[in-house]
Amino acid sequence: MEAFRFNSKLIGESKINESTKVLYFEVPENFEFSAGQYVMMAFYKDGRRILRSYSIFSSPSEKGKISIFFKKVEGGYASNFLFNMKIGEQIEMKGPLGNFTVRNPSKDIFLISSGTGFGPFKSMIKNMSEKKSPQKIYLARGFKNETDLCSEEELREISLSGNLKYFNVLSRPTDEGYIYKGHVQDFLDKFIPEGFNGDFYICGLKEMVFEVREKLGKMGIASQRIFFERYD
Ligand SMILES: Cc1cc2nc3c(=O)[nH]c(=O)nc-3n(C[C@H](O)[C@H](O)[C@H](O)COP(=O)(O)OP(=O)(O)OC[C@H]3O[C@@H](n4cnc5c(N)ncnc54)[C@H](O)[C@@H]3O)c2cc1C
Repeated sequence: MEAFRFNSKLIGESKINESTKVLYFEVPENFEFSAGQYVMMAFYKDGRRILRSYSIFSSPSEKGKISIFFKKVEGGYASNFLFNMKIGEQIEMKGPLGNFTVRNPSKDIFLISSGTGFGPFKSMIKNMSEKKSPQKIYLARGFKNETDLCSEEELREISLSGNLKYFNVLSRPTDEGYIYKGHVQDFLDKFIPEGFNGDFYICGLKEMVFEVREKLGKMGIASQRIFFERYD
């Protein structure tokens, strides 16, 4: 799929909490992408052009619009700009880009994210559920606390009717007795089913990606079965 360059209008938003939002942007009707890909956006600061990437959160089946799930990073120009954008405003976009997509449609997949690293996985899960894909999907997503849990209802619904099993790991849950308290990397041996022979996909900040890759390596999983996208 060739990358397009276009101005995209912000057409909707949903605020997840004080620092994360899902934004909905208009894209050309013939804009096509594969679940897991991202778009690049251009920002201008003191006459300087800054480029930042955002994974597409929505499913490829939605035509004419995409969404992104992002966090307002303290002191970060692009993420704060996005957070303050008003409906109807436009931004320069290029995409689709990247090859963090499901590689082997015949294999089960284990998805591991922290924070907004859940973005590309949401698109993959929705897409596979819409296509009634027979692949089993496991998702372990890490967040800080309960207020970060976006798409919870949708995931629950898909997990009831489809092939998804998911786990929310919270590093600072308000519920002190929360069962999966910590980081995703702390629970991998509990979550990965015995004899799992599918592929692993990891997405998030570099520290977590590094630690998860290391843990999977120690568990004897070959690097050819591990795919990852780093946000920094
Ligand atoms: C392929 C790709 C896809 C990406 N997709 C997303 C996405 O879907 N959603 C999203 O929120 N970000 C995503 N990012 C990160 C995004 O491009 C920006 O780096 C981020 O929004 C910070 O930009 P900034 O200009 O606000 O801050 P900067 O000044 O550029 O960044 C400051 C620091 O913030 C940290 N940081 C970067 N991203 C995050 C994050 N998501 N959460 C917490 N800390 C972060 C990094 O350590 C970085 O050094 C993606 C990055 C890449 C490379």
